[in-house]
Amino acid sequence: MNEYDSNRIYDLTSRIGFKKTYVKEEADCFILNTCHIREKATEKVYDEIGRIKKDFKKTKKPLVIVSGCVAQAESEEMMKREPYIDILIGPQSYHKISDLILSYNRKKQKINETKFDAVNKFDELEKVSNLQNKISSYLTIQEGCDKFCHFCVVPYTRGPEYSRPFKQIVNEAYNLVDNGVREIILLGQNVNAYNFSKSNKNFTLSSLIRELNNIKNLKRIRYMTSHPKDMTEDLISCHKDCEKLMPIIHLPIQSGSDKILRLMNRKHDRNFYLSTIKKLKNVNKNIKISSDFIIGYPGEAKKDFEETLDLIQKIGFVNSYSFIFSPRPGTPAARKKLNNLLESKKRLIKLQNILEKLQLENNKNYLHQYCEVLIENKLENQEKYFGRTKYMSPVIFDSNNCNPGELINVKITSFNQNNLFGFHKVNKVQAA
Ligand code: SF4
Repeated sequence: MNEYDSNRIYDLTSRIGFKKTYVKEEADCFILNTCHIREKATEKVYDEIGRIKKDFKKTKKPLVIVSGCVAQAESEEMMKREPYIDILIGPQSYHKISDLILSYNRKKQKINETKFDAVNKFDELEKVSNLQNKISSYLTIQEGCDKFCHFCVVPYTRGPEYSRPFKQIVNEAYNLVDNGVREIILLGQNVNAYNFSKSNKNFTLSSLIRELNNIKNLKRIRYMTSHPKDMTEDLISCHKDCEKLMPIIHLPIQSGSDKILRLMNRKHDRNFYLSTIKKLKNVNKNIKISSDFIIGYPGEAKKDFEETLDLIQKIGFVNSYSFIFSPRPGTPAARKKLNNLLESKKRLIKLQNILEKLQLENNKNYLHQYCEVLIENKLENQEKYFGRTKYMSPVIFDSNNCNPGELINVKITSFNQNNLFGFHKVNKVQAA
């Protein structure tokens, strides 16, 4: 979601003449778009500002803006701790960024803009276009969350669930495709909770997917991140009916233990999760699942951890993320007694080894096979191309004739933990 937001921030600031630079010393302004999911992310913000300060010690101070969830959650503390910051903008206010910059330039007074204002934000964003020339683009359809998992800051930093108007999203999708986008990733903190009503009509994520499936030049649709409780029958049936919807679902479970799921306030249990996966596989046996895991959650005993390992083996997850529990200020879990860190680290290593093995086995299945790849770009300074399989796996390949945006078949000749490598060859007669 931060990548989507960063792109929109770029679109907005380009209206007042801002241009990206990759030469740090050239910059007049730094915008740090931040994430508050883990403690490390907050410290990274201060480290980055420290580096900017050092680089600009002898020259004119650049304008420093911190946007996103860290700004939202820790605005007062940030202004006190780091006077080098000029403007703080919460994730629901960044549509005002250009006005705030102009105002700061006039008055030279620090600004703290951290109101929840999702409706106005998306009304404003509808008017800006995608200037990034991307083949694969995010499209935010929903923000915020009402689930209040005990470890998570999202309900506090992004606010309550808000679903954008259906028509606004469809217009943005057409706009993206007109600008060259061929894959849309529908985004939301709780994307499958999307629910918008107008004139007695109700629109859900499945209505959106069915609508987008009809866009002629759009080739792939994905959505993330989902909550197991919101995997409705209707959404599941989209995986049977919509050929552009990709067969991989990111469905976080966090733990395989019912006891821990209860302590986390996840509102579903292990059996519910397993039965949801079964329903998905029943409509499309090729579906694969990726997930998120929190290790060392307060109260996690050896038995709970083993139940998580057991679940991983049962489902055979691909591309999953795992972290040691990180207490976030203001959440109920932050008040709980922490598990032994050394033990949690050992558990994390064990779990990650299993996930990596599964990932490697998954990649091995592609060897010597042709797989469908959406070409995203040509790699800089190389005669190679980059694209992704239906399952999001990165593919780096040689080709004698291809263009970004095309769907092609690549023969896979080798692989490693994260990437597939191969070639695509068009014979000259065909190419002509
Ligand atoms: S459902 Fe997801 S976003 Fe909502 S509180 Fe739980 S972890 Fe956070």
